[in-house]
Amino acid sequence: MSIPLIDLKTQYKSIKDEVLAAINSVLESGEYILGRNVAALESAVAELCGVKHGIGVASGTDALLLSLSALGIGPGDEVITTPYTFFSTAEVISKVGATPVFADIDPLTYNLDPDQAAKRITPRTRAIIPVHLFGQMADLDPLLELAREYRLAIIEDACQAIGARYKGHRAGSLGHTACFSFYPTKNLGGYGDGGMVVTNDIEIAARLRLLRVHGSRTRYHHSIHGYNSRLDEIQAAVLRVKLKHLDRWNRQRQARAALYDRLLSGSGIVTPHVEPWNESVYHLYVVRSPQRDQLKARLSGAGIGSGVYYPLPLHLQEVYKGLGYRTGDLPEAERASRETLALPLGPDLSEETVRLIVKTLLGN
Ligand SMILES: *Cc1c(COP(=O)(O)O)cnc(C)c1O
Repeated sequence: MSIPLIDLKTQYKSIKDEVLAAINSVLESGEYILGRNVAALESAVAELCGVKHGIGVASGTDALLLSLSALGIGPGDEVITTPYTFFSTAEVISKVGATPVFADIDPLTYNLDPDQAAKRITPRTRAIIPVHLFGQMADLDPLLELAREYRLAIIEDACQAIGARYKGHRAGSLGHTACFSFYPTKNLGGYGDGGMVVTNDIEIAARLRLLRVHGSRTRYHHSIHGYNSRLDEIQAAVLRVKLKHLDRWNRQRQARAALYDRLLSGSGIVTPHVEPWNESVYHLYVVRSPQRDQLKARLSGAGIGSGVYYPLPLHLQEVYKGLGYRTGDLPEAERASRETLALPLGPDLSEETVRLIVKTLLGN
């Protein structure tokens, strides 16, 4: 038996004809970078989010990096974020020359705790990057309140949460900018790298469009230093095909998550907590237990994949030694990194497989 943590091949088989036709039409069009598929995808993703502008870029990491650049954040500035996320979220802050400031997470949702974020605000703070972890949006209202009070930008790291809702608002619709990744394993994933920034601010949108093509509005004329960070037509064409299925796929993830919840209730294994005002799109189904490592070993012995997201919180990474954090500084993030485990989940996972995984997990 072999059950992967994430099964991309089954999904491909289910949409193979549509995908191949879309790729073929790009190849025959002779237009391969930032063409009509990218423009159509930008409109479609912006519409899904209920936001005015979408700007396709090369990755989720670049969506974050270009957002910081477009907001003019750089040396001397501080940006508050969560230590319990993929490395990109903090890496980009350092890349623009600013300093990441880590605030602890809420132990129930694993998302940035707004009270902890508030405590880290200094006169140098310019922005907060909440991450919508595992498909559930962070508690944005108190963060937006802080942003108004201290004149900060909110950059949503929505890489794991396309389609999710917070108090009825879609991921991406509440921040100054919001960033999506189309990395293959994401809920909307291409067959390579890709990303997008969405924003309601027309000036930020214009700056992002400049930044992604070397600061150039007219070819060979450059008004600022930018990047080479473009989304290609093949990925955009694939993503347009997949976007049509996204709602259904997210609903299938939710249904399988609900089944896991039911089967694991009362087992002592803690299932994901979703706030009543949130609709999670379950990018990952993450349980927690002090016996995490034994559970992982038990699954792996039965040929079942599982994953640890993330084993070392960012404030304790070697690269951030110079920031002076110590073990114990952000206890909830540290505890989560010791106790959480992602179980297999995806739109194509059958009910039967979920039952088998839970049976193995509970050792019966
Ligand atoms: C995937 C991810 C990123 C980075 O996206 P890439 O497309 O891989 O560059 C950033 N933040 C979070 C939370 C992610 O999950």
